[in-house]
Amino acid sequence: MAIRKAMVAGNWKMNGSLELVKQMSDAINDVKSQEMDIVLFPPFPLVPAMVASGVSTGAQTVSENTPGAFTGEVDAQLIKDLGATYVLVGHSERRSIYNESNATVAEKFARAQQVGLTPILCVGESESEQENGQTEQVVAAQIDAVIEKLGVAALKDSVIAYEPVWAIGTGKTASPEQAQTVHKFIRDKIASLDSNLAQGLTILYGGSVNEKNSELLFAQTDIDGGLIGGASLKAESFTAICNSA
Ligand code: PGA
Repeated sequence: MAIRKAMVAGNWKMNGSLELVKQMSDAINDVKSQEMDIVLFPPFPLVPAMVASGVSTGAQTVSENTPGAFTGEVDAQLIKDLGATYVLVGHSERRSIYNESNATVAEKFARAQQVGLTPILCVGESESEQENGQTEQVVAAQIDAVIEKLGVAALKDSVIAYEPVWAIGTGKTASPEQAQTVHKFIRDKIASLDSNLAQGLTILYGGSVNEKNSELLFAQTDIDGGLIGGASLKAESFTAICNSA
């Protein structure tokens, strides 16, 4: 982990309030350091307040389209103009609830980079895929969709988050060894195309990370930090996780 800067990202999902932005940004501004990137992903309407608080901010999704008749969607350029710097693409809830395919996720990734936002590409297998031994195949296909569309070089200005679907919001975390195995698989796969890029690529782990398990997870060679859901809504838990990175 030492060769790459640690990152801790908090995905608020459809939670949060102006009050929570205030609480959380006060807590984060106390633990911020040069050695670590801390980024919060609040719901869209809270993006300007989060940016104003001084905490690095991202959006939870983005339209793959350029501005036009897409009711309810949000354009990447607007997200960028509001001062956000990151965007999650392909979170498993977007893939499963909103039917986003690997190809759509690759388009969102492309649109984010087109305006200068850094995409965090979320990948991960479902419980049945894991039970059937398909983890590597599923994760590879999710990454290949981006490589096929944009070339491996596009991954340079991005982050990958490995989040096994069976571990998200369930309290079931992958063991540090289990997570490390998949992170290494991802890094080796990308290294087969561009080894320098792979060595510099930030790969986060997500799925029921909390202040009790974060330290061991983050100590793994190929785990560069975390994407935190539930525990990013509590200032004490989230800052404890940041301090363990
Ligand atoms: P969780 O969510 O930490 O609540 O499991 C992680 C995520 O969905 O990014």
